Amino acid sequence: MTLFKEFQSALKGLWSLAVGLKVTGREFARPQLTVHYPRKVVDNIVTYRGHIELVGKPKEPAVPKCITCMMCATVCPSGCISIKKFPPPKVAPAAEGEEAKPKAKPVKTPKAFNLNYNTCSLCGLCVQNCPVDSLRFSTDVYLAGVSRADFEYDLMARLAAQAEAVAKAKAPAEATAGAKPGEGGE
Ligand code: SF4
Ligand code: SF4
Repeated sequence: MTLFKEFQSALKGLWSLAVGLKVTGREFARPQLTVHYPRKVVDNIVTYRGHIELVGKPKEPAVPKCITCMMCATVCPSGCISIKKFPPPKVAPAAEGEEAKPKAKPVKTPKAFNLNYNTCSLCGLCVQNCPVDSLRFSTDVYLAGVSRADFEYDLMARLAAQAEAVAKAKAPAEATAGAKPGEGGE
């Protein structure tokens, strides 16, 4: 009886091994989906939802569409968005019988727009509730840092850097397109 049980147990073990090897063999033969980072990076990440970032105006890409309504900072459940507004314009002293008017138009663009990504849960409420579509998810997939401070982002500076990079990338292409045949230099 004991011998029979041992034989049964050995058979079970062999069966389990065969099933495991079958799964391993099947996966081994499948095309590789992952890449050997950092030697290779993935490029099909358009749908990746990284940390949020500001969207620039079509004609002024370094200036965010943001109108400092504070909706995103208000709805954020983690309190990780902080926005600073420009102070309201000074009001000119009114003449007698007239209404006091501001000296200039109020600046709606934020003075500072910061994200603490350490506490962001990527819930998307800020993106969904922005009335002017000034927020989107970035495709920043390769993030690394050595301290929490490395994940506190100045989104205004980020937008300016992105706009500069796009302008730099466009410049040589436009110069080449604008050059007449034979003007290619030496
Ligand atoms: S995705 Fe959610 S948690 Fe992250 S900043 Fe936006 S509202 Fe806050
Ligand atoms: S919700 Fe949009 S417009 Fe309002 S403060 Fe946030 S980013 Fe700016």
